[in-house]
Amino acid sequence: MKHSRVAIVGAGINGVMAGWALIERGYEVSLFEALRPMHATSRASSKMLHGGLRYLEQGAFGLIREALLERHWWLSQQTGLAAPLQIYIPCYKNTGRSPWVIRAGTLLYDLLAIGSKMPLSRRHEPSQVMQAIPGLRSEGLVGAISYWDASMDDEALGLWALARLQERGLKLHKACRVERLFNDGRMETEQGLETFDHLVNAAGPWSHHLLTRSELESPYDLLALRGSHLVVDRPLKAGCLFQQHDGRVVFYLPYKGCALLGTTEVAASSEDPSEPIKPSQREIDELIELHNRFVSPRIEPREIIQTMAGLRPLVLERSQAAKNTRTISRESVLLTHGKIVSLLGGKWTTARKQGEQIALAIEASQGFPTTS
Ligand SMILES: Cc1cc2nc3c(=O)[nH]c(=O)nc-3n(C[C@H](O)[C@H](O)[C@H](O)COP(=O)(O)OP(=O)(O)OC[C@H]3O[C@@H](n4cnc5c(N)ncnc54)[C@H](O)[C@@H]3O)c2cc1C
Repeated sequence: MKHSRVAIVGAGINGVMAGWALIERGYEVSLFEALRPMHATSRASSKMLHGGLRYLEQGAFGLIREALLERHWWLSQQTGLAAPLQIYIPCYKNTGRSPWVIRAGTLLYDLLAIGSKMPLSRRHEPSQVMQAIPGLRSEGLVGAISYWDASMDDEALGLWALARLQERGLKLHKACRVERLFNDGRMETEQGLETFDHLVNAAGPWSHHLLTRSELESPYDLLALRGSHLVVDRPLKAGCLFQQHDGRVVFYLPYKGCALLGTTEVAASSEDPSEPIKPSQREIDELIELHNRFVSPRIEPREIIQTMAGLRPLVLERSQAAKNTRTISRESVLLTHGKIVSLLGGKWTTARKQGEQIALAIEASQGFPTTS
């Protein structure tokens, strides 16, 4: 029974790590991807393996603790594709959260990271943060708090995990779009119908479209927010987090010898996973404007060497009104229809945990005892 055949739809990080959990348990896994592995949201992230400092404000302590343990797991794999990163939060007079609130938050973050062997957060004088972040505006700067997270090459790290799975027998079907899932285990692709013991819908922001096309009911809606980043030709040694007046934060991070600036949050939609997601000119202008408010010299258009955008699926119960997207939890939800397990939402950092939950849901449906 442990050698059941499972088909996973979607080779983003969640599909790959569902494969990881299932291969470890002895399942025979086939992964179906509409375009190519790691081409979508999972390569357009902020490249952070993190607990998410800002989720402290939502009181999502369990999610943060879990993500910080997962950050440790990814770092412990020693792939050379992820490394600890110090991030400064500059504090300005009358702008953003007070330094004391930030200090309390970072101390709590240190506490939630216990056991992960990361350096602790610290307070800094204005001169110290000016040295760490070249060109940072000094006017009104009262100091900074720094804390530690990890940065990664998201696409390469996902492909690293996929390569380990292929060595262990995972079968990858690239450029093979899944049209429909049936709750008896049948799956329809352009090549026809195939039957598996279990189906996993890990189609990321398109998972809900797949359910709809399969005429399967869901008590949830997926609200998609487009998040965009700019890669700017400016070397940066440490990371920085800019606070905006509306409470949102924007990362300014070292990335492959340049700086990664983002992200935006704009309601968006996409029907076709093969179509690239692109930032609008308005988002690009917004990010440049934000950078120029905090750092000089100003960004010139020729310094933007790449733009990236991805869709962040936020899971909403049908009854929940989406008034303020910052207050919607980033936690994931599993949905079962007969032999289909669908994952809605979920972070990059916690993809291994999400994969384990999918494997447990499959085992539970077979009557195996589950461990959590
Ligand atoms: C701007 C932004 C920044 C983020 N930053 C971070 C961060 O720093 N750290 C973090 O932990 N998380 C971050 N996240 C969240 C994280 O990136 C996502 O949660 C994660 O990448 C989602 O992975 P996924 O595998 O579910 O989706 P995707 O990576 O989108 O993969 C889904 C795959 O399914 C395929 N697919 C869809 N439909 C079909 C079909 N019918 N048939 C076959 N294949 C199909 C698609 O082609 C795609 O490859 C960020 C998200 C965004 C949007």
